[in-house]
Amino acid sequence: MREAVGSSRVTRRTFLATAATATALAAGGKIVGNNSGILLEVAKAATSPSGQDEWLRSYCRMCVKPLCATMVHVVDGVAVEIKGDPAAPTNEGTLCPRGHATLFSHYNPYRVKTPLKRTNPNKGLDQDPRWVEISWEEALNTIAKRLQKVRAEDPRKIVLHTGYGSNPDYYNDVLTIWMTTFGASQWNIVPSNGPLCSNHHAMWMTAGNTSNAPEFAFCNYLITLGGSLVDWGNSSGPVRGFFKAIERGMKLVVVDPRASKETTVGEWVPIRPGSELAFALGMLNVMLYEVGLEKLDLDFLKRRSNAPYLVGAGERFYRDPKTKKPMIWDPTDHRAKVFDDPSIKDFALEGQFQVGGQTVSPAFALIKQGMQPYTPEWSEKLTTIRAATLRRVAKDFVAAAQVGSTIKLEGVEFPLRPAAFFCRRAGEGHTDGHYTQIARILINGLVGSLDVPGGLQGQNWGPNMLKPNEDGLVTPILAAAGYPFVYPSDDVMLGTFYPHRHNTPFLAWRAILDPKKYGLPYEVDTLIIFGANPIINNGPSQEPIAAMKKIPFVVSIAYHLDEPTEFADIVLPESSNLEREMKAVVNGFDKGHWAEYQPSGMLYRYPVVKRMYDSKQVEDIFFELARRLNMLAPMNERLNTALKLKPELALQPDKAYTVSELLDRDLKSQFGNDRGAEYFKKAGYSIRMVGPKTIYNYAYWPMGKTRYHLYFEHMKEVGDNLRANLEKNNITVPGWDTQDLMEHYRPVPHWRPMPIHKEPPEYDMYIINWKTAFSVYGLGANQENPVLYEIMRRTDPYSLSILINPAAAAKRGIQDGDTIVVESRRGKMVGKAKLSGRLHPEVIGIGGNYGRKSMHLNPIAREGPNYNQLLTTEDGTFDPISTAMIISAKVKVYRAS
Ligand code: SF4
Repeated sequence: MREAVGSSRVTRRTFLATAATATALAAGGKIVGNNSGILLEVAKAATSPSGQDEWLRSYCRMCVKPLCATMVHVVDGVAVEIKGDPAAPTNEGTLCPRGHATLFSHYNPYRVKTPLKRTNPNKGLDQDPRWVEISWEEALNTIAKRLQKVRAEDPRKIVLHTGYGSNPDYYNDVLTIWMTTFGASQWNIVPSNGPLCSNHHAMWMTAGNTSNAPEFAFCNYLITLGGSLVDWGNSSGPVRGFFKAIERGMKLVVVDPRASKETTVGEWVPIRPGSELAFALGMLNVMLYEVGLEKLDLDFLKRRSNAPYLVGAGERFYRDPKTKKPMIWDPTDHRAKVFDDPSIKDFALEGQFQVGGQTVSPAFALIKQGMQPYTPEWSEKLTTIRAATLRRVAKDFVAAAQVGSTIKLEGVEFPLRPAAFFCRRAGEGHTDGHYTQIARILINGLVGSLDVPGGLQGQNWGPNMLKPNEDGLVTPILAAAGYPFVYPSDDVMLGTFYPHRHNTPFLAWRAILDPKKYGLPYEVDTLIIFGANPIINNGPSQEPIAAMKKIPFVVSIAYHLDEPTEFADIVLPESSNLEREMKAVVNGFDKGHWAEYQPSGMLYRYPVVKRMYDSKQVEDIFFELARRLNMLAPMNERLNTALKLKPELALQPDKAYTVSELLDRDLKSQFGNDRGAEYFKKAGYSIRMVGPKTIYNYAYWPMGKTRYHLYFEHMKEVGDNLRANLEKNNITVPGWDTQDLMEHYRPVPHWRPMPIHKEPPEYDMYIINWKTAFSVYGLGANQENPVLYEIMRRTDPYSLSILINPAAAAKRGIQDGDTIVVESRRGKMVGKAKLSGRLHPEVIGIGGNYGRKSMHLNPIAREGPNYNQLLTTEDGTFDPISTAMIISAKVKVYRAS
């Protein structure tokens, strides 16, 4: 007896009907290899009863945060239904449409089914590679032979390009250790995800964390700037937490060029794209000059931030000559003291003092002085948001923060700050996006609303998150610590020029195309690409295409014949989500705590159906290559250390293992000898609920124990070092004037017009883009998933269309349904106009990213315009601190003739 679950249920009969639809869709596309037979194989399995009828545990990986535990119904070897695991606290039995559609990515008739070799030496999206099927033996031997040559010549000449693509979960330790054992830089593993993330830099600096989000269990007032919290339509807890908070009475203010779904339960404040920083600076001006300092969290500022640290020459901290510790001014004793002097009676936040022959001021005084010009009236000219609205929002925010209030949870007294200011990607994706992020930290910091109930909360928790450094400040982690200056550069991601960089695929292509200009002392010979699609997903496609034509040897581990695979010399088929074995850590959240108790632990999945084709998991391919390259002994030794495998479970030198064997040893080392893969195949996960003492990072480092960076002296230090190194080597960062570059490293955010504000006047509209529930990171092959496509077509009348405000449309003679051209200085897109009053009048926009180009994909993926072709990643335009690219463009819009 089968369990009926919602409308997603697929019986053998309906499955075959859907398969027939998929076959019909497939008929319009070019088919290679043995594609035409695949649905017959499924049908054969479905009509050859073996007696199997069971629900197997797994987890979903159709979006970036795998929080949803699943149950897969397998009948006679065919996965016929998928549902959320009702017992899992992360998703409580629910799945979003992408989760349900997993089945149709697995049974995608366009999958790569066997290794392929290119026979047409000419490469391009207009060239048929003339694939020839080959055996795994031939494919791996060909690749290994090439890699042996590269390794002997210069092992740095290899690049791995990874991402959130078709199968986004990888055992990163295996890949990193493979790469460094090979002899290449680990920074030649270039992720495709990241060019839009300026938020991480500020978080790595201030919260020892990669992201933060509102804390919905207690938040009463939430401002979101530049994006939506619910567009993705996720089924995991945070989205439900958001709506529970709304039901509880949380007030929501959405500052965005677009009225996204959540504005139906909140206030929409339309803003001009590219002016998000001006809004944040205006908020700070009101908080510092109009609200009154006594209403701010002075205790937090004095004892939990660097606001009282004295700043002297060159915008750097004034340090005690003997101990080198930063100093503060004690207004009671009228003298400077080191920041942790036990005799401190009070901390000055304002004023000027003479110390050691220098005039110094508390950092807070400089922050306040810096915000003075940014009045609401100044902000209005840039944002179009009325000064009165900004004043009201800023004042309401401070009042809602309830400065001084506390709450006792699990025996710990926490500050209670039920107000959060949160910034999303449209606020970040500009040349000074990092300053918007820093301003976000400052806005929350002024009311002490960081890592406490109700405020902005770090994504992960634990004692290491807010660990103090020798200055008593949160220790900057990862790129916030600053990549070392290595010139000539060892790697293609160019941390030498951008020491706070995140992932920089667009820089990698440029360095590959012109190594001399970018200080790279070698030419890349081999690219292995998997899960990444820089041609469609990372901005304009010209440079990745040119680089892939230039690189002599390209290997694609591919789930389907996507655009980068069209440039491959060898294609290796990748296993699907349902055929893979992997684990995922659950310790934190994506878009907010949703309750005082949160799940912590691990999800596990394994092949719930037999592999349909001759595919392999990525890690097994790298193990195979390691064996052929005689790298197993050092690689296994490093894996033993990195994964902390118990001595009796350690990998033996020179023995080849599979990812399955490695996972089993990893699980047993973590959970005990009786909790290996066999145990987790039944259990599915190991999750426990943890409470406030664990999930609010304040509990680890309460008042006085560690301080947040509100004055970004560390960033200034990194900039000073970069300038000194550039001068020493007599070079500049390509595309940047050094003096201008240093303006981005100042410790207090400030406004300067950005490239988007300097476009010629004929480009008189802004274009924006947002993610939709059907198109999130191009994950799980969802852009060509026939079921997702059908749901999108039936339920979202705005899908695939270019939205334009009716007034802007009327001015241009554009009517609903007209074909329009949108043209930036960099490219064009053509699409159908859809009139919508839910956009700022100066703005047009499109959700999702369409217009696939590969001739071998499902033809439905080709429909719609490709937004990214309007953007730029030119040197001198992107954010030189976080390396986030500009997410909007200035465009002209007209009816197609
Ligand atoms: S939110 Fe949707 S896509 Fe993401 S893990 Fe859950 S079911 Fe999968």
